[in-house]
Amino acid sequence: DRIMDGETTRTEKEQEAQLRPQNFSEFIGQSKVVDNIDLMVKSALVRKTAMDHVLLSGPPGLGKTSLAMLIAKGLGSELHVVSGPAIEKKGDLAAVMTNLKPRDVLFIDEIHRMHITVEEILYSAMEDFRLDILIGQGASARTMQIDLAQFTLIGATTRSGLLSNPLRDRFTAHLNFDYYEPEMLAIIILNNARKMGITLAEDAKMQIARRSRGTPRIANRILRRVRDFALVNGTHTVGIKEVKAALSLLDIDDLGLDSMDRKILSVMKNYYQGGPVGIDALSATLGEDKQTIEEVYEPYLLKQGLILRTPRGRLLSEIAIQHIS
Ligand code: ATP
Repeated sequence: DRIMDGETTRTEKEQEAQLRPQNFSEFIGQSKVVDNIDLMVKSALVRKTAMDHVLLSGPPGLGKTSLAMLIAKGLGSELHVVSGPAIEKKGDLAAVMTNLKPRDVLFIDEIHRMHITVEEILYSAMEDFRLDILIGQGASARTMQIDLAQFTLIGATTRSGLLSNPLRDRFTAHLNFDYYEPEMLAIIILNNARKMGITLAEDAKMQIARRSRGTPRIANRILRRVRDFALVNGTHTVGIKEVKAALSLLDIDDLGLDSMDRKILSVMKNYYQGGPVGIDALSATLGEDKQTIEEVYEPYLLKQGLILRTPRGRLLSEIAIQHIS
């Protein structure tokens, strides 16, 4: 039961749905992103056109999907959600796009992992609301054009740097999500605890906020486990004791690191004498996918100053060495 794997299971998706903010006032923090979106939504409503295309980037679980849902709601439009890597053929994406109605919102999650041949049909779709499809091969090949409804594309990515230039350039707004400060997470935790029917003591709430890696989705995972403790103990009020028990069960330490984070740090210390070590070597030693390390684990370790990135590779910081000793 890894706390930080960047993936959500089906059951978790259903549970998350109950905890999603229902309106902008329930969407806490990320004020720069929200201010931009608020303006773009209002402008689209005044202009009576589709909102401009927007790229949302940042680590997993920070609220990109939730924001996309609120945008569609604010526009009074329908939201269509697809996952970039799951679209295998151009025709699959073409089918989704030809179904869009004027001003609908198409949300493509993990857009940086979309296949390049599929991605190419987005260029004319985003720019001219037109699909250019090549039919046939060789001398008899010809291009067919299909007009699309004016729609808004919201792309979500954990690695905006991996987007191709033609795709990146077609997004009018690039908005970056950052990890949440504990004070902001505490508000989200309080709201979600209320939705789950539990009351949190002040110190219990702050303890969860500080150990959630700045990520609401992780806060929700901890909350669910804490709720389980409360249920089993027949109480609705959760104190620091239940939170500590849940955190220990989930193997989350004082810095909010889980077992995989600590494994990364110890491998760097024990196998590579604190570095510098390249990502390929690290991934091979850990037996973990390189992309997952870079997109899911590393950003928080970097942000906390536990590892440092140098031209010669990753280095363990003094704080990290002390933390795992
Ligand atoms: P991914 O890109 O990996 O799908 P995400 O960034 O889209 O992740 P969400 O699924 O939108 O993340 O958020 C996960 C949960 O975190 C939501 O169900 C919601 O409970 C909570 N959450 C996220 N951001 C906020 C926020 N700003 N305010 C309130 N709750 C939030």
